Amino acid sequence: MSQQPTAPPSSSQNSPRMRRIAHLDMDAFYASVELLRYPQLKGLPVVIGGGRRREDDLLGRLRVAHPEQEWSSEHLHQIPLDFFPRLAGYTGRGVITTATYAARQFGIGSAVGLMKAAKLCPQAILLPVDFDQYRHYSRRFKAIVTDIAPLMEDRGIDEVYIDFTDVPGGQREGGRVLARLMQKAIFDDTGLTCSVGVAPNKLLAKMASEFNKPNGISIVQEDDLETKIWPLACRKINGIGPKADAKLKSHGIETIGQLAAREQQWLMDTFGERTGAWLHAASHGQDERPVVTESEPVSMSRETTFDTDLHAVRDRAELGAIFTKLCEQVASDLQRKGYVGKTIGIKLRFDDFQIVTRDQTIDHFTADAKVIRQFAGQCLKRAPLQKRLRLLGVRVGALLKAEDAKAGEVFASHPPTRHGADADDLTGQLF
Ligand SMILES: [Mg+2]
Repeated sequence: MSQQPTAPPSSSQNSPRMRRIAHLDMDAFYASVELLRYPQLKGLPVVIGGGRRREDDLLGRLRVAHPEQEWSSEHLHQIPLDFFPRLAGYTGRGVITTATYAARQFGIGSAVGLMKAAKLCPQAILLPVDFDQYRHYSRRFKAIVTDIAPLMEDRGIDEVYIDFTDVPGGQREGGRVLARLMQKAIFDDTGLTCSVGVAPNKLLAKMASEFNKPNGISIVQEDDLETKIWPLACRKINGIGPKADAKLKSHGIETIGQLAAREQQWLMDTFGERTGAWLHAASHGQDERPVVTESEPVSMSRETTFDTDLHAVRDRAELGAIFTKLCEQVASDLQRKGYVGKTIGIKLRFDDFQIVTRDQTIDHFTADAKVIRQFAGQCLKRAPLQKRLRLLGVRVGALLKAEDAKAGEVFASHPPTRHGADADDLTGQLF
C-alpha cells in the first residue's frame, strides 16, 4: 500500500508571490541637487549645462561683485538672484543636461541646445555641471534604497530598479507602501524627491515611474495593460528609439495598443525575428529580465583626504608614499574584482578646493600597481603643484574583464617601455 502523501509544509500560506519590480527615478536630478545649494532658485527656471563648476571662480566673482559681504562655500544660499548668469545671449555649443520643472514649461529640457533654449526662455538661470556633487547624492540615495530593499540594479547616476517581490511590505497595495517609505527616507536624508513606478516587470516599471512625475508613485498591475499602457506612444517602450519608431509609424503603428494588435509573425517578418518577437512581447507587457544587482564598473578609484594639507615639494616623501599606496589599492581592487584598465588618471584637490584631474590612456590593459604608479606619476608631472594639496586620488578607467582582455591579447602585466614621455595625451576629464 502506498503511503498517504503528506502536504508540503505550510502550503496553505504559500500562495505564489507576485513579481513586483520598482523603477525609481530621481526628479530633475542635477537641477535638484543644485537647488539644495542654491535654495533661492526654487521655483525658477534653471538649467544645468555648459562648463564645469569652479567654486573658487564663483567665490572670486562674488567678492568683486558684492565686497560688502564675506563669501565662502557656506554663503551660497545668500547669493543674490541678479548675480546668477541667465541664458539670454548665450552663444556656444553646449546642451542642457537637466532643467527644473519650471524651465520645462518653456519647452526646454535635457539635450536641448543652450542657444535654442536661450531663445525659448532667456530668463532661465544657467548653472555649470558639478558631477562630484551629483555622484555624492547618487551614492547616498542608492545606499538608502539598498538599506530598505537589497536587490537593486544600478541604472546610472539617477535611476535604479528594485525587486520588491520578497521585501517585507513590498506587496502591500501593489508596492505603494514600500515605494512611499523609500521616497520619504530619501527625502529625509537628502532633501531630494524621486518618482517610483511599481509593476510586474522592469519594462512596465520604467514606464510607470514617468506617470506621476515629480514626486509621484504609480502602480501598474497586469490587468492595467489595456487602460494604462496601450494608449501610450510606442516610444515610451524603453528600447524603441527614433529609428524604430519612424519605421513603426510608416506602418501606421503609433501606440503600443496598435503594436499589440499586430500578429507576431507579421512583426517578425517586418522587423526581423528577434526584434519582432521582442516588440510583440513588450507590447503585451511581457518582460522576464531579472534585476541585476552587480553592474559593470566603468572605473575604479581610490582617493584620500589629508588630515593637514600637504605641499608637493615640502611634503614630497609623505605624499609619494601615499601616492604609491593609492596605486597599490586600486591595483588590488582591480585584481580582486577581475578587471584591467587602460586609462590611468589622478585627481587633486587644492586647499582652495580647486580640483585638477589628469589622465592618459596607455596602449595595453593593466591591473599592475607598478604600471599604474608609473603612468599616474606622469600625470602628476603635468599637474600644477604650487598650491597645497587637500586630496589625492588615483583612478583606472576604460575597464575590461581581465579574461576578455586576455582573450584579446592586449593584456600586459609588466611595465612597457615608456611611451610619449610627457606628451600631453589628456583624454578628457576623468573624475
Ligand atoms: Mg531622472
